[in-house]
Amino acid sequence: MHCTLNPWRQVAGLLCLGFVSAALAARPHPLVIAHRGASGYLPEHTLPAKALAYAQGADFLEQDVVLSRDGIPVVLHDVQIDTVTDVARRFPERKRTDGRFYAIDFTVAELRQLEATERFDPKTGKAVFDRRFPLGRSTFHLHTFEQELQFIQGLNRSTGRNVGIYPEIKAPAWHRREGKDISRIVLDMLWRYGYRTKTDPVFVQCFEYSEVRRLRLELGYQGRLIQLLGSRRGVDGTDYEFLQTTAGLELLAGVADGIGPALSQVVRAKAGGGPQVTDLVARAHELKLQVHPYTLRIDELPAYASSFDQLLNLFFREAGVDGAFTDHPDRVADFLANFSPPRP
Ligand code: CA
Repeated sequence: MHCTLNPWRQVAGLLCLGFVSAALAARPHPLVIAHRGASGYLPEHTLPAKALAYAQGADFLEQDVVLSRDGIPVVLHDVQIDTVTDVARRFPERKRTDGRFYAIDFTVAELRQLEATERFDPKTGKAVFDRRFPLGRSTFHLHTFEQELQFIQGLNRSTGRNVGIYPEIKAPAWHRREGKDISRIVLDMLWRYGYRTKTDPVFVQCFEYSEVRRLRLELGYQGRLIQLLGSRRGVDGTDYEFLQTTAGLELLAGVADGIGPALSQVVRAKAGGGPQVTDLVARAHELKLQVHPYTLRIDELPAYASSFDQLLNLFFREAGVDGAFTDHPDRVADFLANFSPPRP
């Protein structure tokens, strides 16, 4: 709807403003969360991918965080580094007995010698998404979590915007077995950079419920916290089926501010092939939990969706999610530019 500026319609204009403010009060505008940066266009988690996502209008930029051998948080999706770097060529003798290369076996100085690339399958050498940025072209590098915080805060200063961060604490149980407490290290860094409370532009996310609980109840994290929902069970025993029940969501509401479900937990394919919105978002909203599903991709549409816009309509208009992770932040930001959130 349009709010008229015509003075003879002052009353109508006030009514119109009232309507708009009521709609805004009903539910905030959904958030565009750049999944590993604008990873649909540039190699994931590189600073160029973050700069592009920033410029494309993302509200939050995601960081996946793992630790190096010297205990420094580094922005990488996996604890292994052989799917996004040339580590196998540069340090062939450093693989473990499972044939994989792990960030935690390398110092930051060593990690920074590596070239980062578009994600590939180390067995075949082929790109995971074959229409994306070509393998082996141009030059990209890994960086630390701190470097990325400085990068985003620097852009916020130079642009006057206030784009947020969305760090995921990766594999805390695995890090503990390797002798390192990743959550403490990440929280210390967040504190130093001013990400401390629920009004600061930060969401911390984790798949392991035991760690989400620990972040809130033991480590004293007071910012917004998102429990990610996987399929089946997490490595720490997190029961994702249970967490999606109302009893599970009530448990989560005691420590978290929201959930990060998979797309299929919010919209599933019906027997006939069409989409069906589940009641997960509605039940989460009743408990004041936000819902930020992962991952909207133009080049990986669920079978029930014939176009990206149809997918966006399903998630933002019909399911009513509060934000979503996307590899293509420009497309989601364009869609949401003229979007009014559905009234609850
Ligand atoms: Ca992630």
